[in-house]
Amino acid sequence: MRLLVQKYGGTSVANLECMQRVREKVLKVLDRGYKVVVVLSAMSGETNRLIDMARKWSKRPDPCEMDVLLATGEQASVSLFTMLLKDCGVKARSFLGFQVPIQTDKSFGKARILDIDKEKIKDILYKYDVVVVAGFQGCDCEQRITTLGRGGSDTSAVAIAAALGAEVCEIYTDVDGVYTTDPNICPQARKIKKIAYEEMLEMASMGAKVLQIRSVEFAKKYNVPVHVRSTFSDEPGTLVVQEDKSMESAMVSGVAYDKDQARITLVDVYDEPGVAARIFEPISRSNIVVDMIVQNPSRGGKTDMTFTVPRGNTEETLNILQKVKDEIGASAILHDEDVAKVSVIGVGMRNHSGVAAIAFSALKNENINIMIISTSEIKISCLIEEKYTELAVRTLHEAFGLDHETPGIKA
Ligand code: ASP
Ligand code: MG
Repeated sequence: MRLLVQKYGGTSVANLECMQRVREKVLKVLDRGYKVVVVLSAMSGETNRLIDMARKWSKRPDPCEMDVLLATGEQASVSLFTMLLKDCGVKARSFLGFQVPIQTDKSFGKARILDIDKEKIKDILYKYDVVVVAGFQGCDCEQRITTLGRGGSDTSAVAIAAALGAEVCEIYTDVDGVYTTDPNICPQARKIKKIAYEEMLEMASMGAKVLQIRSVEFAKKYNVPVHVRSTFSDEPGTLVVQEDKSMESAMVSGVAYDKDQARITLVDVYDEPGVAARIFEPISRSNIVVDMIVQNPSRGGKTDMTFTVPRGNTEETLNILQKVKDEIGASAILHDEDVAKVSVIGVGMRNHSGVAAIAFSALKNENINIMIISTSEIKISCLIEEKYTELAVRTLHEAFGLDHETPGIKA
């Protein structure tokens, strides 16, 4: 049995007309001899509407009941879509998460998928040509409904594709793929034909919000090719796959930015074992994600420690630090929210030298000061003044030759 898994996002199923367009796409695939598992999101705006409603009803909506409520968004879309299929004679049936079942842990609102009954889906596929599964939802071991976190339908689709060993998991959305950078700030941004899972993870975690990060982690773990493409055209989109030789020829595959950053500096902390732990342990206990960290060499047993946190956590971080300030000997705690992180990403960095130098001199040419630098095997990130973000993105995009079809360095 040839099998395809297709996921359609909220804007793709927003109304009757949109759903009819999706039906056309599914009919075409059936014509090519495939059976299809269609995973749907809630109609666009619906999940937000339900969240707002719960907040009106209750100051602190019960997390279990919240999931029961949110799951109704996807329940409505799968039933409506299945009606459309049946109207034109397709053998189709809808399934909610708990009916499959898609087993998850008990983390309501951000549950992780533990298991999918693939034999059951396969049995169903013998009887039906299209199985329409509600995305974003599953159930725990006590049959309570869970949801997988915002954007979780991507993860539902990839997990089902992995369980069934589907050739590819197509993610249909309102953009036509993954771009070398944000086209809204850099008109030269190009659609990437093929990107490695790892690159996509770096792009996704830095604001390229095309796929839920967890879905990419899932795809990487089970080696599921993911094709991100537009519902509104027939053009191929971006393939997210395992790294291959062809990807190494480019030094850099994309430029990402993140304005959700705040810089915090602890001045004159003791330079001795345990100080960093005393700073970061209470921060991590509060579930605040620290990103870039730098510690300067010590002068007379004291040093400065600088790091970044998401901007929404600045206050809380400062409060935590006030409590340990004396213990760690800090003479002052400084913070700055007018910062942004720009990053160049690419698996090609592993075997090209001089990538950092190109990035730094591009920023220098625009007179942009770098406050913090951090690197990984496939990424170089610089913290800069927020007002220069767009300029920095454009200049890095150009410096790495991403403005042109065949990436190379601009002489
Ligand atoms: N409907 C859910 C949300 O808006 C899940 C999804 O669309 O992927 O987050
Ligand atoms: Mg989505």
